Amino acid sequence: MSFEDSMVVSAVAFEKTCSLEGSGESNGMELKEGRIKKRVTKEVKCELVNFDSLPDYFKDNEFILGYYRCEWPLRETILSIFSIHNETLNVWTHLIGFLIFLSLTIFTATMIPREMNVPSMQQSSSQVTEASLPMKQSGVIACLPSPLPVDELETSTPASSIWHLPELLVNCLPKRFSHARNITNPCILISVTDHMANIISQLLMKEVTRWPFFAFLCGAMFCLLTSSICHLIFCHSKRTAYIMLRLDYTGITALIVTSFYPLVYYSFLCEPFYCHLYMSFITAFGLATILVSLVPVFQTAEFRSVRAGLFFCMGVSGLVPIMHKLIAFHHRPEAILSTGYELLMGTFYGLGVVVYATRIPERCMPGKFDIVGHSHQLFHVLVIAGAYAHYLAGLVYLKWRDTEGC
Ligand SMILES: [Zn+2]
Repeated sequence: MSFEDSMVVSAVAFEKTCSLEGSGESNGMELKEGRIKKRVTKEVKCELVNFDSLPDYFKDNEFILGYYRCEWPLRETILSIFSIHNETLNVWTHLIGFLIFLSLTIFTATMIPREMNVPSMQQSSSQVTEASLPMKQSGVIACLPSPLPVDELETSTPASSIWHLPELLVNCLPKRFSHARNITNPCILISVTDHMANIISQLLMKEVTRWPFFAFLCGAMFCLLTSSICHLIFCHSKRTAYIMLRLDYTGITALIVTSFYPLVYYSFLCEPFYCHLYMSFITAFGLATILVSLVPVFQTAEFRSVRAGLFFCMGVSGLVPIMHKLIAFHHRPEAILSTGYELLMGTFYGLGVVVYATRIPERCMPGKFDIVGHSHQLFHVLVIAGAYAHYLAGLVYLKWRDTEGC
């Protein structure tokens, strides 16, 4: 079956469903005629139509010429997720993106602390040498580099102290055990201390708070899911389109705003003034953008560039805390690496905005990219790539602050 044939079959299937809804009422000729009229009307509604047939409020991209759904019943609109039209890939790209970020969130919540801590613990223990085995006081707390009151230990012990527990434990061994090292294989000693350190680290480890990172992950999932739903059902009616497009803009704004949180929070963990300043600024900017997007004129086709420009400015304002971070922490490899990922993210997002605003490639060959390859699909893929680059930057921040604390 050719692609065109499958399109016809798909459209016919919807026509049948719609015409069944129209039957079931009437006696007499007039009602019968009315029923026929109703059936015809519904059949027309469930067809894929061309751009020229769309009402003005649905016209958005004149370079996509065909395969539009227009004012279909809600049930058929939702079921059209499994049929082919010019929004199918827009729906699925972000739905798959949502599932990817849901998996990353679960992975981060369940695996990342262990993945990051255990190898480092082992690395620490492997660095233990005989030279690092001087006799010292017994007792773990007393052997920490900067002894702390017990009640402060849980809140202020930097993760780095915990990551060096094997060395600390070896230093803290009772005399008789330390004397024994002269006749015991050091590997056994290290193995014992490594095991003890892992147990104790579970009790003492105070990781840096994760909420800014999970806020970003939630922002990404919200953006991707709302976008997917929007593309699926906005064609149902003018009112649905009105609501869905605003939800879509809110999702984009949420992604941009929450993308700032890990960057700002972890970079300026030890400088609350800048941390609060940047986070307040971007949150206020995001709320203002959502309010502006509620104005009806904002979503008209003429405001395409304004929309793109506003989101672009919000994203570009992230350069300020990034530059600040580079100046303040230029000697830190974590700052350089995370900035690299952020530049990659900015490149993806910037490219996405350019593609979105210019409507390349369909502008060059109108009608040739209606189903596959039009600018909005490329924009979706670039958004997912950008968000993933930011996720990688977030992992760098977590490791940095888990290791160093404040
Ligand atoms: Zn979209």
